[in-house]
Amino acid sequence: MNSGIVYLVGAGPGDPSLITLRGVECLQKAEVVVYDYLANEQLLCHAPESAERIYAGKIGGRHNQGQDEINSLLVDKAGAGKVVVRLKGGDPFVFGRGGEECEALRDAGISFEVVPGVTAAVGASAYSGIPLTHRDVTASVAFVTGQEGKDKQESNIDWDRLSLGGGTVVFYMGITTLRRNMQRMIEHGRSPDTPVALVRWATTPCQQVLVGTLATIADRADECCFKPPAITIVGEVVALREKLKWFDKRTLCGKKIIVTRSAEQAGEFSAKLAARGATVLECPTIRLVEPESWQLLDLAIRELPSYDWVVLTSANAVRFFFQRLDSVGMDARALGNCRICVVGPKTADEIRMFGIKPDLVPGDYKAEGVVDEFARLDMQGSRVLFPRADKARDVIPRELKKMGAHVDSPVAYRNIFPDRLPPETLFALEKRSVDCITFTSSSTVQNLAAMMGEELMLDMLKGVVVASIGPITSKSCRDLGLKVDIEPESSTLDSLAEAVEAHFA
Ligand code: SAH
Repeated sequence: MNSGIVYLVGAGPGDPSLITLRGVECLQKAEVVVYDYLANEQLLCHAPESAERIYAGKIGGRHNQGQDEINSLLVDKAGAGKVVVRLKGGDPFVFGRGGEECEALRDAGISFEVVPGVTAAVGASAYSGIPLTHRDVTASVAFVTGQEGKDKQESNIDWDRLSLGGGTVVFYMGITTLRRNMQRMIEHGRSPDTPVALVRWATTPCQQVLVGTLATIADRADECCFKPPAITIVGEVVALREKLKWFDKRTLCGKKIIVTRSAEQAGEFSAKLAARGATVLECPTIRLVEPESWQLLDLAIRELPSYDWVVLTSANAVRFFFQRLDSVGMDARALGNCRICVVGPKTADEIRMFGIKPDLVPGDYKAEGVVDEFARLDMQGSRVLFPRADKARDVIPRELKKMGAHVDSPVAYRNIFPDRLPPETLFALEKRSVDCITFTSSSTVQNLAAMMGEELMLDMLKGVVVASIGPITSKSCRDLGLKVDIEPESSTLDSLAEAVEAHFA
């Protein structure tokens, strides 16, 4: 029996977190994903890497290729036994031609399921602060295509009822036909003063809202060259936006911020900035890789019971150290005799994941903080293991040796830089549209300079606000000629996000 199936999945209006759980489940088991222009590409991350990804906005070199071609593609792929996800912007059954795709699948005897999505009108409503219905204002809403009747003499829309019914009217695909449709509503009896809002790229960081009336909105849209894709909301409810808008009121709304971190680590910090409304460009400047040789770390691991202290100054150090312990067939019990010092709450959390409670977590999240804490103890003759990054500062080994300790500091991981900047980041820098860049360690700034060349980096960052996580990173910035504008009191990602927010507030 043919196991092929097509899931028609609504991707939601743009914000990638507005897809349904069921939609994500389908993507996770997809062997083929056929996606549209309006479906956020970031959603493809839910599909297995091995899944074939087909952009259906452009097949055979043509834009918006025929619906027939898409239908045949779905039939062919599922007919060959594949699990196919047809990912469509918004909801598949709202102006999405999902109905036609299902008909074609049914005719070809192919199984399908439909997963609803947040349609653009509903997304635009929520993110612009315009409720589509309201007890005191209107009790009905109509979703209407703005293109209807374009090629026909007669329209199937009952403009009289639509205009005089008093309900909210939402046009999809109505920007190129905006003037004509607004005029029609007036001609059919709706007051020219009725408020209208256009919401472009709703629910995304590029969301734009333009407000006017039936009489004025087309001129306003022309004045600012307002472009599709956008939703047009007509009705008294639009007036509620002044009171209810929230999305575009967030402190970092409209700010473009570059986050320079390792690809694996960027997500968490980016999310903090995005939650405050920023458009985040992730620019990985660090790749963490194994040391050139494990010899020294292995030697230390074999002698673990002889150490009094193990010092780990980053979550990465913890991860690489435990990975190596595992590779040589050992586990956390090998640390039974040692006391553990970690720097910073993240590192402490990481080591707790391995079942270990740190003995010492200095209040100051820097190497100097570690040194100060050890200065209170009698370190004479103590053996200290400090598995570190290849480019780590030597403050800890140097100062502990001065206290009479014996310190081994084998390399546990190397920090190298990727070959090039992501094209979106470079493009934004060239266009001078970046507001702020964040550095979360010395390596991030040093690696960026190495990737771009110092001179080009300084030139491209002219006028860009520089945010550094703490004094050491700031010094590395200044050493390279960058002026630091933001440095939080405490060197944590949360504090850095708060400091960036405060700067732009
Ligand atoms: N099936 C989709 C609609 C597809 S028709 C849905 O349910 O949302 C395409 C139209 O949808 C566009 O012309 C525009 O009017 C609207 N649209 C889709 N995504 C949008 C977005 N993020 N912001 C504003 N309008 C959007």
